[in-house]
Amino acid sequence: MPYGVSQYYKSLARSQDPDNDPIAAQFIPRPGEQVLLPYESGDPISDKQYEAAPRLIHHYHDRALILVNDRCATYCRHCFRRHFTGSSTGRLTGSQLEEICRVLSQRPQIQELLLSGGDPLMLPDGELQVILEALTEVNPDYIFRMATRIPVVMPGRITEELADMLGRYGAMWIVTHVNHPREITPEFTRAIDRLVSRGMPVLNQAVLLRGVNDDEGVLEDLMRGLLRAKVKPYYLFQGDLAGGTRHFRTSIFRGLELMKHLRSRLSGMAIPTYAVDLPGGGGKIPLHEGTVLGVFEGWYHLQGPDGQVYRYPHEGDESSFGGET
Ligand SMILES: *Cc1c(COP(=O)(O)O)cnc(C)c1O
Repeated sequence: MPYGVSQYYKSLARSQDPDNDPIAAQFIPRPGEQVLLPYESGDPISDKQYEAAPRLIHHYHDRALILVNDRCATYCRHCFRRHFTGSSTGRLTGSQLEEICRVLSQRPQIQELLLSGGDPLMLPDGELQVILEALTEVNPDYIFRMATRIPVVMPGRITEELADMLGRYGAMWIVTHVNHPREITPEFTRAIDRLVSRGMPVLNQAVLLRGVNDDEGVLEDLMRGLLRAKVKPYYLFQGDLAGGTRHFRTSIFRGLELMKHLRSRLSGMAIPTYAVDLPGGGGKIPLHEGTVLGVFEGWYHLQGPDGQVYRYPHEGDESSFGGET
């Protein structure tokens, strides 16, 4: 995955040492990225298995994901779609869009479309509009979900014009990706206000990242700061098993402990669902005491929504870069 960071996001770092700054850690590669563990994968959530057309992933009954673009304004070092992101796959082509629309018209159970990538808001307004128009023609009642880190890494991109354009599409939900309270700046808050003022709800998906936000106080400030900026914490994800991301992952036990703390300190509105995308294509499940059956020979046994047991490694929290199997 390429290195790339916006001037703005870079300026939020207080040090350029990724081991000592929660912002720098998210954009400066560390040696841990070279360590690929046997249970890690280039496709940790099994996008390929659920591909209904090139760049259309239909995994869950009523919603589908479209990878509209492979570019980002900043490449997150913890990215789980790192084999697609920045891969020079490029933008969705006209013929790919046609094929996606054809498949969508045959699957009326799909009510919600997630636009992601890469970052969809890296596309020029006009190109994004062409895509939204084509999809609206298939079904004028689609619920849209724009998955974007642009408000965090390039808030100036959320112009009045872009917000006007996005706000014209029925139910347009914005899902952004804030991991640390220092990412909640006046620029971020202004970008969110532009979206909210056009009637678009904004949600947040954070990833639990070791050394970035695996701390009671940091997560508490993050969730409360999001509410203040009018963003609803939606998910807190356990790290996916993407190749070279071991140094970012915490144990699930630690995640459960952190959630317990948040529940004891924050408004219900501020509580995200702690979730993991089950390795092997099992889908997303919330993590709470009930889904964690135990640890057997170094592996968590986790109960999927289908009642099956899925395995996830118990890695502990020591800060060695791999070597552990
Ligand atoms: C995560 C995801 C969704 C959305 O899941 P929600 O639980 O509704 O947020 C949809 N499609 C794919 C392929 C996903 O990975």
